[in-house]
Order: sequence, then C-alpha cells, then structure tokens
Amino acid sequence: MKIETKCLHEGYEPKNGEPRVLPICQSTTFTYDSTEKIGDLFDLTSDGFFYSRLANPTVDCVEKKIAALEGGVGALCTSSGQAASTLAILNILNAGDSFIATSTIYGGTINLFAVTFKRFGIECIFVDADATEEEIQAKIKPNTKAIFGETIANPAISVFDIEKFAKIAQKNNIPLIVDNTFATPILCRPIEFGADIVIHSTSKYMDGHAIQVGGVIVDSGKFNWDNGKFPEFTEPDQSYHGIVYTEHFGNAAFIAKARVQLMRDIGVTPSPIGTFLLNLGLETLAIRMKAHCENAEKVAEYLIKNDKVEYVKYPSLEGDKYFTLAKKYLPSGCSGVISFAVRGGKQSAIKFMDSLELASNVVHVADIRTCVLHPASATHRQLTDEQLIAAGIDGGMIRLSVGLENIEDIIEDLQQAFDKV
Ligand SMILES: *Cc1c(COP(=O)(O)O)cnc(C)c1O
Repeated sequence: MKIETKCLHEGYEPKNGEPRVLPICQSTTFTYDSTEKIGDLFDLTSDGFFYSRLANPTVDCVEKKIAALEGGVGALCTSSGQAASTLAILNILNAGDSFIATSTIYGGTINLFAVTFKRFGIECIFVDADATEEEIQAKIKPNTKAIFGETIANPAISVFDIEKFAKIAQKNNIPLIVDNTFATPILCRPIEFGADIVIHSTSKYMDGHAIQVGGVIVDSGKFNWDNGKFPEFTEPDQSYHGIVYTEHFGNAAFIAKARVQLMRDIGVTPSPIGTFLLNLGLETLAIRMKAHCENAEKVAEYLIKNDKVEYVKYPSLEGDKYFTLAKKYLPSGCSGVISFAVRGGKQSAIKFMDSLELASNVVHVADIRTCVLHPASATHRQLTDEQLIAAGIDGGMIRLSVGLENIEDIIEDLQQAFDKV
C-alpha cells in the first residue's frame, strides 16, 4: 500500500459483520473466565487486553496504523507529545546517564530535558544541529545513551540532518530519536534515513484539527540493545519475575518495555475516544499535508517579496539555509509552518499579529486553520536569551502556521495586517 492508502486502511481490518469504522472501545477493563488467564497476562506469558492503562483495542489499532506509516515494528500512544518524549528517554536512560539533543528543539522539550530531567539525574548535552560530526562526537561521553533531534525544528524551521546524526549514533552504539511532529510520515520517514526511534506530538498535524492533545512513540525495531550499554533490556526485570525484554520480545523490545514498565508505572495513557479522533485526523493526513505545503509555499513566496519582512525561514525556498537538506529529507514539501520576522522587531511583530483577522493568535501550530504565535513571548518564554539565540528565535520572529483556507484569503489577511504596521 502507498502512504495515502495506509492512512485509510492500516491498523484496523474488520471481519464479517464487524463495524466498517474503527469502533471506540470505551472500557477500562476486559473480562476473562479464569483467574489463571489474568495471571498469565500479568506475567506477560500470554497476550491480551486487561486494563486500558496498558493497552486498549481502539488505541491498539491506531498504534498499528502509525507504526505502519513510519515503517516501524511497533508504536505506543501517549497522552501528549511531552509524555512521548519523556517515556522515550526514560526507557533508555537512568540517573547518571546523559544524552545529546539539538538546541533547536521545541521549547517544551528543552524545559523537560534541561530542567526536569536534570532533577532525575539525567543530563542533556545540547549541541548545534549544524555542527560537524567531529564537534558532535567530542560532546559524547561514556555515559551518553541517546541522541535526540527534530526533523523540522519548531520554530527555527531548520532541517535536521538525520543521516549525519544516525552515523554518529551508530558509531557510538546508541539510538537516534527523532521528533517527526512537523514533517509527519507523509513528508519524511526518519527510519528510512537511520533513525531508531521516532516520536510525535499527535496534537499537531496528525490530529490536524486542534481537538486532542496526544503523542506517540514508534520503534524501528532495528537498534541492537544487546551491545552491553543497555542492561535494562538484556537483564531480568524483577518487576516481571525476571523477564528479559530482548529475549522475550525480540526486535519489538523497545515498545514492549516502554508499555509494560513505564506506561504501567507512570500512566500517561491516551483515552480511547481521543485516539478515535486522532484516527479521523490520520485518515486525511496525506491529502492535508499536500494542501498545507502548497499553501505554505505560496505564502513563503509572498512573504519573501514583501519589503516589510526582514527574513523568511521556509526550507522549500531556494536560498533558504536548509534548501539542500530539505530536498533530501522533505522532497514533497516542508509542512505548513513558516517562521518570519517583520522589520522593526518585537513591537512590529506584535502590531502585525494583533492586526490579523482571519489568522488566529493561538498557542498551537500545525492545524487546518491558519494561526500565528510569537515564540519569544509564548512557547519559548521560559528560555534564557542565550537559549533563545541557540533555538534560532529573536523578538521579531513570528511562527505562521498556514492552514487550508483559500490561499487568496490567507494572503489578503496578511496584506491588510502588513498595511497596519
Ligand atoms: C507541540 C510539540 C511537542 C509537545 O507536544 P504536546 O502534544 O503539546 O505535549 C513536542 N515536539 C514538537 C515538535 C511540538 O511541536
């Protein structure tokens, strides 16, 4: 199946007489006719649903669909994108470990990595995504257990050189985790370029309609956990009577461990009805992404010709710093998100934003409705001036998420707002 078909058909295959549309299985629990069968489920010696904190039939179908879209062997849906990043890291690292992340990642992820994980004894070493292999290698320590980056960074709109980082990760026998939220598997499938784990905030394009916060972790199944660096995968887990994840689950060990250990203990579970809504978004993801890219390309061309605009960051534009990387990793488009600055700094940016009539000023992005955000005073407000520069943000920067309205209406709205600056 091609990707458009997978969006509609993967994950759920009804049998004779069953509902054509993925049903919402709104039940916390599942019944069995013997205590022994339930005991086996708890021991992981048999397979089945027993409590929706760990797994649920509706959620299971959507996980299978997303795994198929990304080309992975398994997926775990979470209650938010933040929960997906948290579990992906905690599934690999312990107190005393460190990992590498690029400094252009999403502001919420920077807080999680730099502040909260520090309290857990996990160190995040930030690197410039455009640094050379040697410079990045020099930051890796014996306790460094993973590398983390974003395909299209929010809001710097820089393109992550997946193959460069995959090579460094392989050389050091550590997994590469890629946050693929903005690209979605329609525009880029990081596993094809060597990523080991992919995460998403499904709150963005995957849901697409701004109705449901959620996240997902996808495992490529390709990383060899049995290389001496990851004893939690290869040594007995006392919380399951000594199960060894790599032996019991083979190349599906990563998601299995994340689910049965971390989801069990931390419980950042998505709801069945929320996941049903996510599935509706996924069904149209391929056609929406195409339309978002088409509109955004036209908006980017319009912005770059506007003399009230200081700069435009959109890698599909010839002359953009990431044009070459975008051709390689994002050949069918760079999503609907553009960052640009209005001449005159923060004051002009705010005047412009407050003058918009169609585009809404919201703390959201990657939505069917055009929206704007001022990162320096919203999502990245907690960052220091230094972190802001490293994240590619300045006071004049506006993040514009181009929606699916008619392109003429979008541009007319931008124009009337520019006229007021
Ligand atoms: C929004 C976002 C997140 C966080 O996801 P939530 O669903 O809001 O928790 C993580 N990464 C990226 C790139 C995002 O845009």
